[in-house]
Amino acid sequence: MEKKVELELKKVTKKYGNKTALNEFNYTFNEGIYALLGPNGAGKSTLMNLITDNIRRTKGEILVNGKEILTLEKSYRRMLGYMPQQQGSYDQFTGKTFLYYIAELKGLKKREARKQIESLLSVVNLKKDANRKIAGYSGGMKQRILLAQALLGNPQILILDEPTAGLDPKERIRLRDFIGKLGQEKIVIIATHIVSDVETIAKQTLLIKDGTLVNSGKPEELVESVKQHVEEPIGGRYSLEDVYMYFLGEER
Ligand code: ADP
Ligand code: MG
Repeated sequence: MEKKVELELKKVTKKYGNKTALNEFNYTFNEGIYALLGPNGAGKSTLMNLITDNIRRTKGEILVNGKEILTLEKSYRRMLGYMPQQQGSYDQFTGKTFLYYIAELKGLKKREARKQIESLLSVVNLKKDANRKIAGYSGGMKQRILLAQALLGNPQILILDEPTAGLDPKERIRLRDFIGKLGQEKIVIIATHIVSDVETIAKQTLLIKDGTLVNSGKPEELVESVKQHVEEPIGGRYSLEDVYMYFLGEER
Protein backbone atom coordinates (compact mmCIF):
# COMPACT_ATOMS: atom_id res chain seq x y z
CA MET A 1 0.00 0.00 0.00
CA GLU A 2 1.23 3.43 -0.91
CA LYS A 3 0.87 6.32 1.47
CA LYS A 4 -2.14 8.57 1.16
CA VAL A 5 -1.56 11.84 -0.57
CA GLU A 6 -3.27 15.19 -0.43
CA LEU A 7 -2.60 18.21 -2.61
CA GLU A 8 -4.14 21.45 -1.48
CA LEU A 9 -4.27 24.70 -3.44
CA LYS A 10 -5.15 27.89 -1.59
CA LYS A 11 -5.90 31.07 -3.47
CA VAL A 12 -3.35 30.17 -6.11
CA THR A 13 -2.97 33.06 -8.52
CA LYS A 14 -0.80 33.61 -11.57
CA LYS A 15 -0.50 36.87 -13.43
CA TYR A 16 1.44 37.49 -16.62
CA GLY A 17 1.89 41.22 -16.52
CA ASN A 18 -1.63 42.48 -15.94
CA LYS A 19 -3.22 39.36 -17.46
CA THR A 20 -4.57 37.05 -14.76
CA ALA A 21 -4.13 33.51 -16.06
CA LEU A 22 -5.29 31.91 -12.80
CA ASN A 23 -7.36 33.65 -10.19
CA GLU A 24 -7.47 32.57 -6.51
CA PHE A 25 -7.77 28.90 -7.29
CA ASN A 26 -8.87 26.81 -4.30
CA TYR A 27 -9.09 23.04 -4.43
CA THR A 28 -8.00 19.92 -2.57
CA PHE A 29 -7.03 16.78 -4.46
CA ASN A 30 -6.85 13.25 -3.04
CA GLU A 31 -6.32 9.87 -4.72
CA GLY A 32 -8.35 9.57 -7.88
CA ILE A 33 -8.74 10.94 -11.36
CA TYR A 34 -9.60 14.60 -11.80
CA ALA A 35 -10.63 16.08 -15.11
CA LEU A 36 -9.66 19.67 -15.63
CA LEU A 37 -12.00 20.83 -18.36
CA GLY A 38 -11.88 24.18 -20.04
CA PRO A 39 -11.51 25.87 -23.40
CA ASN A 40 -8.17 27.03 -24.78
CA GLY A 41 -6.74 29.84 -22.70
CA ALA A 42 -8.76 28.89 -19.60
CA GLY A 43 -5.64 28.47 -17.46
CA LYS A 44 -5.27 24.68 -17.39
CA SER A 45 -1.61 24.57 -18.36
CA THR A 46 -0.86 27.47 -16.04
CA LEU A 47 -2.39 25.54 -13.15
CA MET A 48 -0.35 22.46 -14.04
CA ASN A 49 2.85 24.46 -14.35
CA LEU A 50 2.21 25.90 -10.90
CA ILE A 51 1.54 22.48 -9.36
CA THR A 52 4.71 21.11 -10.93
CA ASP A 53 6.64 24.19 -9.84
CA ASN A 54 7.75 25.02 -13.37
CA ILE A 55 6.61 28.62 -13.09
CA ARG A 56 6.45 31.01 -10.16
CA ARG A 57 3.09 31.76 -8.71
CA THR A 58 2.01 35.32 -8.04
CA LYS A 59 0.11 34.46 -4.89
CA GLY A 60 -1.25 31.59 -2.85
CA GLU A 61 -0.13 28.31 -1.33
CA ILE A 62 0.32 24.82 -2.68
CA LEU A 63 0.59 22.18 0.03
CA VAL A 64 1.28 18.49 -0.28
CA ASN A 65 0.32 16.54 2.83
CA GLY A 66 0.21 19.88 4.61
CA LYS A 67 3.65 21.10 3.53
CA GLU A 68 4.35 23.97 1.15
CA ILE A 69 5.85 22.44 -1.99
CA LEU A 70 8.45 25.19 -2.30
CA THR A 71 10.06 23.92 0.91
CA LEU A 72 10.12 20.28 -0.21
CA GLU A 73 12.32 20.60 -3.30
CA LYS A 74 13.70 17.23 -4.38
CA SER A 75 11.36 15.11 -2.32
CA TYR A 76 8.40 16.80 -4.01
CA ARG A 77 9.94 16.38 -7.48
CA ARG A 78 10.11 12.66 -6.82
CA MET A 79 6.41 12.51 -6.04
CA LEU A 80 5.58 14.10 -9.38
CA GLY A 81 5.04 12.80 -12.87
CA TYR A 82 4.39 15.46 -15.48
CA MET A 83 3.39 15.11 -19.08
CA PRO A 84 3.70 18.58 -20.60
CA GLN A 85 1.45 19.86 -23.34
CA GLN A 86 4.35 20.72 -25.61
CA GLN A 87 6.33 17.87 -27.03
CA GLY A 88 9.94 18.50 -26.05
CA SER A 89 13.05 18.66 -28.12
CA TYR A 90 14.22 15.14 -27.39
CA ASP A 91 14.26 14.18 -31.04
CA GLN A 92 17.83 12.96 -31.04
CA PHE A 93 17.22 10.45 -28.25
CA THR A 94 15.82 7.05 -28.97
CA GLY A 95 12.67 6.22 -27.00
CA LYS A 96 14.68 4.07 -24.64
CA THR A 97 17.63 6.42 -24.07
CA PHE A 98 15.14 9.21 -23.41
CA LEU A 99 13.51 7.14 -20.66
CA TYR A 100 16.92 6.30 -19.15
CA TYR A 101 17.79 9.98 -19.20
CA ILE A 102 14.59 10.93 -17.36
CA ALA A 103 15.03 8.03 -14.93
CA GLU A 104 18.43 9.41 -14.03
CA LEU A 105 17.01 12.90 -13.52
CA LYS A 106 14.44 11.35 -11.21
CA GLY A 107 17.18 9.63 -9.24
CA LEU A 108 16.20 6.05 -10.04
CA LYS A 109 18.80 3.35 -9.49
CA LYS A 110 20.01 1.71 -12.69
CA ARG A 111 18.46 -1.67 -11.97
CA GLU A 112 15.14 -0.15 -10.97
CA ALA A 113 15.23 2.09 -14.04
CA ARG A 114 15.74 -0.89 -16.33
CA LYS A 115 12.86 -2.78 -14.76
CA GLN A 116 10.46 0.14 -14.99
CA ILE A 117 11.50 1.13 -18.50
CA GLU A 118 10.96 -2.38 -19.87
CA SER A 119 7.55 -2.54 -18.28
CA LEU A 120 6.49 0.99 -19.31
CA LEU A 121 7.61 0.46 -22.89
CA SER A 122 5.17 -2.39 -23.20
CA VAL A 123 2.44 -0.50 -21.36
CA VAL A 124 2.63 2.34 -23.88
CA ASN A 125 3.11 -0.11 -26.72
CA LEU A 126 6.49 1.17 -27.85
CA LYS A 127 8.62 -1.88 -27.22
CA LYS A 128 9.48 -2.50 -30.84
CA ASP A 129 10.18 1.18 -31.51
CA ALA A 130 12.24 1.73 -28.38
CA ASN A 131 15.54 1.90 -30.21
CA ARG A 132 14.35 4.30 -32.89
CA LYS A 133 14.96 8.03 -32.66
CA ILE A 134 12.03 10.05 -31.33
CA ALA A 135 12.43 12.32 -34.38
CA GLY A 136 10.91 9.55 -36.47
CA TYR A 137 7.96 8.93 -34.14
CA SER A 138 4.39 9.83 -35.06
CA GLY A 139 2.52 12.36 -32.91
CA GLY A 140 0.81 9.53 -31.09
CA MET A 141 4.08 7.74 -30.37
CA LYS A 142 5.57 10.97 -29.01
CA GLN A 143 2.57 11.33 -26.70
CA ARG A 144 3.03 7.77 -25.48
CA ILE A 145 6.75 8.15 -24.76
CA LEU A 146 5.92 11.36 -22.86
CA LEU A 147 3.37 9.46 -20.81
CA ALA A 148 5.92 6.74 -20.10
CA GLN A 149 8.44 9.27 -18.76
CA ALA A 150 5.76 10.79 -16.54
CA LEU A 151 5.10 7.36 -15.03
CA LEU A 152 8.76 6.62 -14.28
CA GLY A 153 9.41 6.39 -10.57
CA ASN A 154 5.75 5.52 -9.93
CA PRO A 155 4.88 9.07 -8.81
CA GLN A 156 2.00 9.69 -6.41
CA ILE A 157 0.92 12.81 -8.28
CA LEU A 158 0.48 12.55 -12.02
CA ILE A 159 -0.15 15.67 -14.07
CA LEU A 160 -1.20 15.11 -17.66
CA ASP A 161 -1.63 18.13 -19.90
CA GLU A 162 -3.79 17.29 -22.92
CA PRO A 163 -2.45 13.73 -23.02
CA THR A 164 -4.51 12.64 -26.02
CA ALA A 165 -3.59 15.57 -28.28
CA GLY A 166 -2.66 14.33 -31.73
CA LEU A 167 -3.81 10.77 -31.13
CA ASP A 168 -6.09 8.93 -33.53
CA PRO A 169 -9.40 7.64 -32.11
CA LYS A 170 -8.07 4.15 -31.43
CA GLU A 171 -4.98 5.41 -29.60
CA ARG A 172 -7.14 7.91 -27.74
CA ILE A 173 -9.37 5.21 -26.33
CA ARG A 174 -6.44 2.96 -25.49
CA LEU A 175 -4.68 5.76 -23.62
CA ARG A 176 -7.87 6.81 -21.83
CA ASP A 177 -8.52 3.28 -20.65
CA PHE A 178 -4.94 2.95 -19.46
CA ILE A 179 -5.07 6.25 -17.56
CA GLY A 180 -8.40 5.12 -16.13
CA LYS A 181 -6.65 2.36 -14.23
CA LEU A 182 -4.05 4.64 -12.64
CA GLY A 183 -6.24 6.55 -10.23
CA GLN A 184 -6.43 4.09 -7.36
CA GLU A 185 -3.42 5.20 -5.36
CA LYS A 186 -2.43 8.38 -7.14
CA ILE A 187 -3.69 11.85 -7.70
CA VAL A 188 -4.15 11.98 -11.46
CA ILE A 189 -5.03 15.34 -12.97
CA ILE A 190 -5.89 15.44 -16.65
CA ALA A 191 -6.32 18.70 -18.52
CA THR A 192 -8.36 18.54 -21.65
CA HIS A 193 -10.98 20.33 -23.70
CA ILE A 194 -12.25 17.02 -25.03
CA VAL A 195 -15.04 15.80 -22.79
CA SER A 196 -15.07 12.23 -24.08
CA ASP A 197 -11.46 11.76 -22.96
CA VAL A 198 -12.43 11.96 -19.32
CA GLU A 199 -16.18 11.46 -18.96
CA THR A 200 -16.02 7.77 -18.09
CA ILE A 201 -12.85 7.80 -15.99
CA ALA A 202 -12.95 10.96 -13.89
CA LYS A 203 -13.96 10.82 -10.24
CA GLN A 204 -14.25 14.60 -10.15
CA THR A 205 -14.58 17.23 -12.84
CA LEU A 206 -13.26 20.76 -12.48
CA LEU A 207 -14.63 23.32 -14.90
CA ILE A 208 -12.30 26.20 -15.51
CA LYS A 209 -12.78 29.34 -17.55
CA ASP A 210 -10.85 32.62 -17.68
CA GLY A 211 -8.60 31.44 -14.88
CA THR A 212 -11.50 30.77 -12.55
CA LEU A 213 -12.85 27.52 -11.16
CA VAL A 214 -16.44 27.80 -12.34
CA ASN A 215 -17.77 24.59 -10.85
CA SER A 216 -16.66 21.15 -9.73
CA GLY A 217 -18.20 17.85 -8.79
CA LYS A 218 -18.73 14.26 -9.74
CA PRO A 219 -19.51 14.00 -13.46
CA GLU A 220 -22.93 12.44 -12.85
CA GLU A 221 -23.84 15.11 -10.29
CA LEU A 222 -22.86 17.89 -12.65
CA VAL A 223 -24.91 16.29 -15.41
CA GLU A 224 -27.90 16.09 -13.04
CA SER A 225 -27.48 19.74 -12.07
CA VAL A 226 -27.75 21.09 -15.63
CA LYS A 227 -30.68 18.95 -16.79
CA GLN A 228 -33.33 21.55 -16.05
CA HIS A 229 -31.29 24.30 -17.70
CA VAL A 230 -30.42 22.83 -21.07
CA GLU A 231 -32.49 21.60 -23.95
CA GLU A 232 -33.03 17.86 -23.92
CA PRO A 233 -30.53 16.20 -26.23
CA ILE A 234 -31.77 14.03 -29.08
CA GLY A 235 -32.32 10.59 -27.60
CA GLY A 236 -32.74 12.10 -24.13
CA ARG A 237 -29.32 11.12 -22.82
CA TYR A 238 -27.66 14.03 -21.04
CA SER A 239 -23.89 13.88 -20.75
CA LEU A 240 -20.90 15.79 -19.47
CA GLU A 241 -20.92 17.47 -22.87
CA ASP A 242 -24.07 19.34 -21.77
CA VAL A 243 -22.32 20.39 -18.57
CA TYR A 244 -19.40 21.70 -20.56
CA MET A 245 -21.68 23.66 -22.87
CA TYR A 246 -23.76 25.04 -20.03
CA PHE A 247 -20.85 26.31 -17.94
CA LEU A 248 -18.14 26.94 -20.47
CA GLY A 249 -20.03 28.07 -23.55
CA GLU A 250 -19.69 27.41 -27.21
CA GLU A 251 -15.97 27.35 -27.82
CA ARG A 252 -14.07 24.06 -27.88
P1 ADP B 1 -4.99 26.51 -21.30
O1 ADP B 1 -3.91 25.55 -20.98
O2 ADP B 1 -6.25 26.28 -20.55
O3 ADP B 1 -5.24 26.60 -22.78
P2 ADP B 1 -3.05 28.51 -20.43
O4 ADP B 1 -2.81 28.20 -19.02
O5 ADP B 1 -2.04 28.06 -21.42
O6 ADP B 1 -4.51 27.97 -20.85
O7 ADP B 1 -3.23 30.07 -20.60
C1 ADP B 1 -4.05 30.85 -19.75
C2 ADP B 1 -3.93 32.31 -20.14
O8 ADP B 1 -2.64 32.79 -19.80
C3 ADP B 1 -4.11 32.57 -21.63
O9 ADP B 1 -4.80 33.80 -21.78
C4 ADP B 1 -2.70 32.67 -22.13
O10 ADP B 1 -2.64 33.47 -23.26
C5 ADP B 1 -1.98 33.29 -20.94
N1 ADP B 1 -0.56 32.87 -20.89
C6 ADP B 1 -0.11 31.62 -20.75
N2 ADP B 1 1.24 31.57 -20.71
C7 ADP B 1 1.65 32.87 -20.85
C8 ADP B 1 2.93 33.51 -20.88
N3 ADP B 1 4.07 32.81 -20.76
N4 ADP B 1 2.95 34.85 -21.02
C9 ADP B 1 1.81 35.56 -21.13
N5 ADP B 1 0.58 35.03 -21.10
C10 ADP B 1 0.49 33.69 -20.96
MG1 MG C 1 -2.95 24.20 -22.13
